[in-house]
Amino acid sequence: MILLDGKKTANDIKNEIAIKVTSLVASGGKKPHLAAILVGCDGASETYVNAKVKACNKVGFDSTLVRFNTDVSEEELLAEVKKINENSNIDGLIVQLPLPAHINEMKVTEAINPKKDVDGFHPANIGRMALNLPTYLPATPAGILELLERYKIETSGKHCVVIGRSHIVGSPMSILMARNNNPGNCTVTLTHSRTQNLKEITKTADILIVALGKAEFVTADMVKDGVCIIDVGITRVNSNITKSGWKLLGDVAFDEVSKKSNFITPVPGGVGPMTIAMLLKNTLVSAENLLY
Ligand code: NAD
Repeated sequence: MILLDGKKTANDIKNEIAIKVTSLVASGGKKPHLAAILVGCDGASETYVNAKVKACNKVGFDSTLVRFNTDVSEEELLAEVKKINENSNIDGLIVQLPLPAHINEMKVTEAINPKKDVDGFHPANIGRMALNLPTYLPATPAGILELLERYKIETSGKHCVVIGRSHIVGSPMSILMARNNNPGNCTVTLTHSRTQNLKEITKTADILIVALGKAEFVTADMVKDGVCIIDVGITRVNSNITKSGWKLLGDVAFDEVSKKSNFITPVPGGVGPMTIAMLLKNTLVSAENLLY
């Protein structure tokens, strides 16, 4: 069994980005600049945004964090997006989701200039992804592709089963694994909460990508020997072993499933760190005007 080490791979990518930033600045260019908008003070969102800002600093990017109270109006938020769209000093803009219920998330996502949409959530960029055109790929699926590529995992002709059809992970992942690309060229089955006989399907997977948000949902009896497991899930559960009183679990019962796997991502330290690395990569691409 080979552990797909997302922490190490993400650090490698960050080091590569930092070197590029240094040479960009040395040749008279400006530092890439990522702006993040955070609404409210949800603990998880706050943690994710802080980690993104910290990662920007680590690779030599400029970053701007714009904070709003939970009661910010949709108009105020859209006005801020417009302001950042028009600021030529800023290369990438992310709006941390979820937003409060009174704000239309899709309206805000669509307001972001697709050229600055480094999260890859804008319908124009999702369309470009589906058409296999150059674009910003959503960060988590892009991180998974990067792991598959760097660990030289053969995907062509394989059966890839994806569990979960969210707009940010499962759906784009299913499109990317089916594209005529490397990694890609899989025969893909996208499964979800209405799927019948899930176990029969997962047992035929060569590559199983799990993103449903239920701790240790995938057990050893659901996979075949030699499978490649990508575990996207992150669930915080109470623990009396850790100092903090909690620990993170993936969607896969790691101890038993890893015994049958050729490759597997751990949680934490697998897909999670890759997500931020890919966000930085997208921002660098934007700063270098490589896409549009
Ligand atoms: P989501 O919560 O939006 O959707 C869950 C999906 O799982 C749905 O499509 C649903 O149909 C499917 N599902 C639910 N129960 C099912 C069942 N019994 N059988 C089959 N399918 C079922 O999903 P999300 O936002 O993609 O998040 C999934 C998990 O991934 C969460 O734990 C989240 O925290 C984690 N996540 C991690 C990262 C990362 O960077 N590592 C990024 C995004 C999400």
